Amino acid sequence: MSRIALLAEEVASQVAAGEVVERPASVIKELVENSIDAEATRIEVLVRRGGISYMRVVDNGVGMDRDDALLCLERHATSKIRTGHDLAAIATLGFRGEALPSIASVSRFRLATREREALAGSEVIVSGGKIESVRDGGDAPGTQIEVRSLFYNLPARRKFLRTENTEASHVEHQLHLQAIGHPRVGFVFIKDDRVVYQLPPTNSLRERIRDLCGGAFATELLEVPEFVGEGIEVRGFIGKAGMSRSSRQQQLVFLNGRAVENNTLSFALREGYHTALMKGQHPVTFLFIQMDPAAVDVNVHPAKREVRFRDAANVREAVAEAVRRTIETDRAQWTQTFRASPGAAIEPLIPTQPFQASLPIPQSAQVSLRHDWASQPLPPPVRAVEALAATPALPPAPMAPAAPQEAIAAGEFRILGVLGKLYLLMENASGLVLVDQHAAHERILFEEMRRRMEEQGVPSQRLLIPLTMQVTPRDADWLLRHLEVLERAGIALEPFGSCTFKIDTLPTFLRASDPSQLVRDIIDDLRDTSTQTSKLRLGEEMIAKTVCRHAVKANDYLREPELVRLVQDLLACELPYCCPHGRPTMIQMSYGELEKKFGRKV
Ligand code: ADP
Ligand code: MG
Repeated sequence: MSRIALLAEEVASQVAAGEVVERPASVIKELVENSIDAEATRIEVLVRRGGISYMRVVDNGVGMDRDDALLCLERHATSKIRTGHDLAAIATLGFRGEALPSIASVSRFRLATREREALAGSEVIVSGGKIESVRDGGDAPGTQIEVRSLFYNLPARRKFLRTENTEASHVEHQLHLQAIGHPRVGFVFIKDDRVVYQLPPTNSLRERIRDLCGGAFATELLEVPEFVGEGIEVRGFIGKAGMSRSSRQQQLVFLNGRAVENNTLSFALREGYHTALMKGQHPVTFLFIQMDPAAVDVNVHPAKREVRFRDAANVREAVAEAVRRTIETDRAQWTQTFRASPGAAIEPLIPTQPFQASLPIPQSAQVSLRHDWASQPLPPPVRAVEALAATPALPPAPMAPAAPQEAIAAGEFRILGVLGKLYLLMENASGLVLVDQHAAHERILFEEMRRRMEEQGVPSQRLLIPLTMQVTPRDADWLLRHLEVLERAGIALEPFGSCTFKIDTLPTFLRASDPSQLVRDIIDDLRDTSTQTSKLRLGEEMIAKTVCRHAVKANDYLREPELVRLVQDLLACELPYCCPHGRPTMIQMSYGELEKKFGRKV
């Protein structure tokens, strides 16, 4: 008995729709991409109730004639590719010819379209995949698509939708991606009959980011100068060192105009930031990659979000390098603003006059004015940091107070005091500066140790009893290829059978209770960094892990000369504004921000 039957076209469309149309945001994505492919310069998106009840996308693109308006609703009908050969180099956002029939099969759908030169347009109404009417219509040139009652004929699917608010936020995120990806297109977004934004077309990505995300946010970004690698160009904007998010929501990467997600890219960004990014956090990026469409496969998933690179290593190198250079340039600029003439830059400030409060302080309030923090009995000085930061004891800094009212030159700091035995308070020309003394010390030690490692190699120690460790065949392969690098970093391993290694030597500063676990961690951390950088990274990674234990603790009491020294050393660092784990070391709170907080300025 034969059991196979061809599915009815309608059912087949619904099956296909399952892959393309997951929620209202996927409809918006497909419709907006079609408008962009149709060369629209203005796209208006309107959603009601998170898009579940109603969505409309109106564009001023090329439009369609009557035949195309009907054909576009057939499955596998597309104007964007013709042959299998075209699949190898896709230059448009769409190419599968699946979106419109899929959407029309799971909603009440209306298409009105008119070509620019045509006298009249066409209107097609479809319900659950069945064409209900076709007639003349379509007023302005361009295309308008309305989608009502999504999944009305697929109750199981409808149940999977979240609340209207959640669906609306997915729609917004999707539009955000499209708007950033295509600054030359003007966007209008209307939600529940309220205009959320109107973005004018622009040639400047920075302007688009400012219009969409706000000016304050845009100033936190660094421009990535165009980086040209082999068959690849990288540009855009990225967050400054220390700026990060706990999710990937703002890690945007566009490949030939398409927002994409790809592990290679995530690793490359991370690698580019290296210690300028907090562990476990994600960077903020608006990165644009242009490459030959033939070097990348976008036909991996129906939603076209994932891509596969033909030469992933090349892409990784280019992206990591573009990011690294940007962070480095910013460091140079930062240094110029902050680093003053050595020595004179940081002056401690001990007010001679008691603080004159202009507000009467009520007797009951326990307010004490600790303007004389420097003359307090001193707790024992900070433990010398185990020869690593062998800081020669400084002669006590002259205690001559600086006149507090004296203006501060650009690049100068004046130490005001220490807050909570942790935060160093300073004043500079722009306002208040806070330094996390622990993070700052970590950064100083990190760079100091890295310098030593580069100069002298890592001091290492033979284990009294060599340890053997078992690894997986993949890890064994990695280890065999990196024996020399590991040895330079102070870890001597000897192959001992196919998947067994003998650990002979470890760096002296590493006091690992379980050396084989440590080696495993190192493999895990480093496998994903590219081979070119791994040599340096290997050592850095280990150093970063250890400095934390050596740095001054939050509660260690630093004397004034030590504070001055700390700030001086920090400013002399290569990457002063964040600790080796990417946390900020220094925060500037400008007069502008203070004025806002005190309501002097809106
Ligand atoms: P694809 O985009 O993969 O080609 P779609 O189902 O999304 O498939 O669209 C089918 C075809 O309909 C497109 O190839 C295009 O020719 C036409 N089309 C869709 N939307 C528009 C639009 N907004 N303006 C002009 N033509 C459009
Ligand atoms: Mg499409």
